[in-house]
Amino acid sequence: MFHTILVPIDLSETSISKSALDKADAIAQWTGAALRLLNVQVLLPANFLDYMPADFDTQQRREAERSLEKMALGLRVPPERVSTIVRVGGVYPEILAEADTFGADLIVIGSHRPAMSTYLLGSNAKTVVRHARCSVLVVRD
Ligand code: ADP
Repeated sequence: MFHTILVPIDLSETSISKSALDKADAIAQWTGAALRLLNVQVLLPANFLDYMPADFDTQQRREAERSLEKMALGLRVPPERVSTIVRVGGVYPEILAEADTFGADLIVIGSHRPAMSTYLLGSNAKTVVRHARCSVLVVRD
């Protein structure tokens, strides 16, 4: 069964993320797996940062850490089996990198229902399914 479950959380789409997290929480309870919540902070263009306070990145990161910790507190899995991490970079490369670092054997990821725009633009969920070395559960909203 599953031992290490990674749940990427988009903090700007918490309803979709919550749905995926609920499923991951339930699976972790049945299987005794460890759960890791991941948020990726996307790098902003350098010229945009010129207009932001000097510690903007640090503030955003701390805010994301706090949000993940708050979500983790609401889980039914015992706290000693739950961890959180914030990474900086591109969403799907960081999800795949953290899956390797954590040794995830399951990624539980949220996704909108497929739409024409999804096929044209691609999506993080699709790319993770295609490139992950472990099982991936896509939770539709
Ligand atoms: P869709 O698959 O519907 O096109 P996205 O690809 O934007 O939607 O997002 C799908 C999933 O990817 C989200 O539910 C979440 O699990 C993950 N994800 C998106 N953005 C982030 C982010 N910044 N940090 C962590 N995970 C993310």
